[in-house]
Amino acid sequence: MLKIGSHLSSLKGFLHMGKEALSIGANTFQFFTRNARGSQAKAIDDRDVEMFRKFAEENGIGIILAHAPYTLNACSKDEHTRKFARMIMEDDLRRMEYLPGNYYNFHPGSHMGQGPEEGIRQISGLLNELLRPEQTTTVLLETMAGKGTEVGRSFEELRAILDDVKQKGHMGICLDTCHVYDAGYDIVGDLDLVLEEFDRVIGLDKLKAIHINDSKNDFASHKDRHEKIGHGSLGLHTFVNLINDPRMKELPFYLETPNDLKGYGMEIQLLREQSW
Ligand code: FE
Ligand code: FE
Ligand code: ZN
Repeated sequence: MLKIGSHLSSLKGFLHMGKEALSIGANTFQFFTRNARGSQAKAIDDRDVEMFRKFAEENGIGIILAHAPYTLNACSKDEHTRKFARMIMEDDLRRMEYLPGNYYNFHPGSHMGQGPEEGIRQISGLLNELLRPEQTTTVLLETMAGKGTEVGRSFEELRAILDDVKQKGHMGICLDTCHVYDAGYDIVGDLDLVLEEFDRVIGLDKLKAIHINDSKNDFASHKDRHEKIGHGSLGLHTFVNLINDPRMKELPFYLETPNDLKGYGMEIQLLREQSW
């Protein structure tokens, strides 16, 4: 069965998100580890975590995806911002272990003129400081649209980060459909070619999750603006191809489209109807 969910608000805790996911036909979900600006996180509520764990098991909710705040920039030119990124990620990874075996996704960052090589060095440097052999969380680098000085705009840049991380078994990639199309990978015209390139450069075994978003912008525009499924430049057929590709079958898909809960439910239903 298709593993699909949407981004949900984590304000009311894990059990609440689990119930919300179920109510819209989802069997997984994504959430921010703290508010998107990255300030204080809610204290971990042991009872909520325990009730969610049970609820997830009883209702077949699979691996969930935590998303780091957007303000986290591991390769900022500013040392203070890099230290902040370190503090947030360290705390997030510690908290992730309360629910073992899930995914933690982050935007590699923007090098702000330092150049991609320096950016890659700082990002992998942070991961080497924080990743532990005993951790159960898999950390995912998100494919980026290439807005401004974003690192991770190409499969090669992501591969370079992975190459420099020592804890290789705890790393993976989250492919965002809007971002890769914006970055210049034509998943609309030739999905097969893009997946082959991903496999050649990074390896499909590293692909752990998909952000499933349509795009408001044209091919290779480097803008990063998500659109509802079937309403943007990717089109429904792209997503039908993707979710039914035998290489994608086991991966979880996460909607980050501009929707409320009801809208997410409709997109999940639409994609389930199109999956075989
Ligand atoms: Fe993201
Ligand atoms: Fe995304
Ligand atoms: Zn985006």
